[in-house]
Amino acid sequence: MGQVYHMPMQKARRLIHKAYKFRLKATPQQSTQFTQIVGVCRLVWNLCLEQRKAVYSSRRMSLNSYNQLPDVTLLRHDYEWIKSVPSQVLQQKVRDLDAGYRNFFEGRAEFPERKKKGKAVDSFRFPQGFKIDNRRVFLPKIGWVGFFKSQKIQGTPKHMTVSRRGKHWFVSICCEDEQIIPVPKSKAVGIDMGIAKLCALSDGAVIENPVVFGQHKKKLAKLQRRMARKIKFSRNFYKAKAKITALNTKIADTRRDFIHKTTTGIAKNHGLVVLEDLRIKAMSRSAKGTMTNPGRMVKQKSGLNRSILDAAWGEFRRQLEYKVAWAGGVVVAVDPRNTSRKCPVCGHTAKENRLTQADFICVACGFADDADVNAAVNILRAGHARLACGEIGAVRPLDEAGTLEAA
Ligand SMILES: [Zn+2]
Repeated sequence: MGQVYHMPMQKARRLIHKAYKFRLKATPQQSTQFTQIVGVCRLVWNLCLEQRKAVYSSRRMSLNSYNQLPDVTLLRHDYEWIKSVPSQVLQQKVRDLDAGYRNFFEGRAEFPERKKKGKAVDSFRFPQGFKIDNRRVFLPKIGWVGFFKSQKIQGTPKHMTVSRRGKHWFVSICCEDEQIIPVPKSKAVGIDMGIAKLCALSDGAVIENPVVFGQHKKKLAKLQRRMARKIKFSRNFYKAKAKITALNTKIADTRRDFIHKTTTGIAKNHGLVVLEDLRIKAMSRSAKGTMTNPGRMVKQKSGLNRSILDAAWGEFRRQLEYKVAWAGGVVVAVDPRNTSRKCPVCGHTAKENRLTQADFICVACGFADDADVNAAVNILRAGHARLACGEIGAVRPLDEAGTLEAA
């Protein structure tokens, strides 16, 4: 217990931008300042536009903000009323003109126009230098301006735009926020594959096979007995055989659907899924089976059941692997030996711990649990141990059909 496990994956994040627009509580003095700034911005825009046009028609040269910004700085030095406008706001205006040209040449907008008083949208932008308080913003050269906070602001403010609509002034605060894509779950789970049940999970859940499987199985046995009584290769023999084939298909479809439902649920809720290496499990099971059931027919039958079971387990694992990967998680396979015999409390490992199929009772410390859930807990721990050794990718691949070969 108490093992710390760090998910070997990066948290998926993406940046989102959101603008919040609030009405400003500008004082009459601030409103006048805003109007002045808008006027200077308009002037700078128009001057820069004229300069670009003139230089292009006389010298076939294209100017951009890089060429024009020094001129704007000179302009600020020469006129006191221009100096009262925050420099970054004016610089932003010249860059806006670059964007206007770009949008025109890339076919997104008309050619930039002269801004006429009262016609253009009156707005200016602060790319930096602003501050934000609970219910007010600080704008360079203007000071604190209150606003009607109609909603909560989330993220980091990147720039602010002041604009006029009618007689009111507004501020748009553009924020950048990091959004965590909520897929990879850090929860880990161990899975013990079963025979009667589909599987048991280390969190205590036991997933039973659908009841219909039992009914199908009985019907299948009946059909098989019936076929055995037919004269081989007669018409009735083939009829009976067709019925068996149809039923087998039906069972396979039901099983596949059920496995899909189960694996989707597991992948949705877990970032680390630990499974048993099924080939080793199949081998150990067959050895045990032949000891307790030494009859020839019994052996054949169990072999047939086993191949069906192995196909189901292979399908289970195939589905889990891609579904967990889609969700950003990891599937790890571990050696299943001793997972059903080991005590998770004291570590005592003995076949006496498991005298019945259903119960696990440790002969050393007395710990008792559902035998399959206990195995799933041990499988999860083995998975943690493997990852601690850095063995993440060394999961044995399935064959092309998505199944494991019968051992
Ligand atoms: Zn014990």
